[in-house]
Amino acid sequence: MKFICIGRNYAAHIAELQHSTPENPVFFMKPESAITRCNRPFFIPDFSQEVHYETEVIVKINRLGRHIQEKFAHLYYDEIGLGVDFTARDLQRACIRDGEPWEIAKAFDGSAVVGKFVPKSELPDVQDLHFHLLLNGNQVQTGHTRDMLFSIDQLISYVSHFVTLKMGDIIFTGTPVGVGPVKINDRLEGFLEGAKLFDFKVK
Ligand code: MG
Repeated sequence: MKFICIGRNYAAHIAELQHSTPENPVFFMKPESAITRCNRPFFIPDFSQEVHYETEVIVKINRLGRHIQEKFAHLYYDEIGLGVDFTARDLQRACIRDGEPWEIAKAFDGSAVVGKFVPKSELPDVQDLHFHLLLNGNQVQTGHTRDMLFSIDQLISYVSHFVTLKMGDIIFTGTPVGVGPVKINDRLEGFLEGAKLFDFKVK
């Protein structure tokens, strides 16, 4: 499996990082080795001094697809969850500055935290979902899927024109505003529509 991660999908977060607004979705990938399974600790890598959380709605692909039309994209997933796209912000800044790929900042071991999933059938509208992150009990990040620049179905359609989607692939749909650094012993709890989908410590 692979992770497909969308960048710049919430206007307020684009402003937060002083990026430009894209005409099409922007995506990058993480390998399978990036996974941190549900509620396992996240280990801060020794090569970064500034690792940020990015809480994101995640979508699990349920069958093979390529060149998927937007109107059929809803058939390619039946579970929605919450994850964290951990980012070595200091390395990412250097990559952007030097025009280099982002992998060392984004695709490192453990950088894709995957929480629990909820059946889509239990969610009336995937573009009407509220989610938030507690850092040591304090709400630090909150988002709503209606604020996405590109909807989940648009993302699936767009990505599948370049990369074949396979069963088990996970799409990180982009972070809302409110990203920030983590340190050892932090506790992160993520909620989607009030249901806790992950709860883990930073080591
Ligand atoms: Mg992200």
